[in-house]
Amino acid sequence: MSEECTHDCSSCSSNCADRDPKSFLEAPHPNSKIGKVIGVVSGKGGVGKSMVTELLAVEFARRGYHCGILDADITGPSIPKAFGLTEKAMGNETTIFPVKTKKYGIDVISINLLLANETDPVVWRGPVIGGTVKQFWTDVLWDNVDYLFVDMPPGTGDVALTVFQSIPVDGIVVVTSPQDLVSMIVGKAMKMAELMNIPVLGLVENMSYIQCPDCGKKLYPFGESRIEETAAAYHVPVLSRIPIDPDLTAACDGGTVEDLEEDYMTDVIGVIE
Ligand code: ADP
Repeated sequence: MSEECTHDCSSCSSNCADRDPKSFLEAPHPNSKIGKVIGVVSGKGGVGKSMVTELLAVEFARRGYHCGILDADITGPSIPKAFGLTEKAMGNETTIFPVKTKKYGIDVISINLLLANETDPVVWRGPVIGGTVKQFWTDVLWDNVDYLFVDMPPGTGDVALTVFQSIPVDGIVVVTSPQDLVSMIVGKAMKMAELMNIPVLGLVENMSYIQCPDCGKKLYPFGESRIEETAAAYHVPVLSRIPIDPDLTAACDGGTVEDLEEDYMTDVIGVIE
């Protein structure tokens, strides 16, 4: 705590240990109406965090909820491609309008909906990236969204911290894979969430197994999972175990994630709803 502390965190920029984490929260766009905000996090990139975000939004949309996806993975944005979105997000002086997905009208904002070419790299420093994510919250019109899913940047770094501090996240789903050093990675995500007073809703293990298309036997290419032990150690549920499934790859890469028939998210719905 600074010697000149006034105990008014809202007017002070000092990041001291006694600061109320909620004091960094940013107000959403004045016309936004948002129900629950659910963060989808992972310890590192490439474990399927964006895919789980997409499957969650699609599953909720199928149940009649109006969903939004805020793609906070600014350096690895993959949401627009999975939904086959090619048009650009429009805006005016005060407002950015998300792009709606074709089948379920999920509102999406992502840096790739604003860049001239989707292959343009985002070569920005942390604070600029953090500022962009904040704008996705403050400047985007989230119009009567029941559930807003935030595809978090991987890891527990600078931008993830900005998201947790500036957006009022109601709970997080942690995505992991068996080849992760599961307990360590999950432990970091848990501790970060705890520091920020954000409830961990549960774990999703992606690429958990392969199911033989002929005999149905489950194979474990990364070794038997230890997710149950990890979940028990942190007193959180395992919400889903998703196999390596070529249909998932094809849908994510081909822009047809809304047409997938698999119901890998059924148990996740219950803890979020
Ligand atoms: P992250 O957001 O963690 O970086 P993504 O969700 O973008 O990872 O997944 C990376 C790629 O891996 C995607 O293009 C998707 O096609 C593929 N993928 C993810 N999970 C699976 C799975 N269970 N089965 C098949 N392909 C998958």
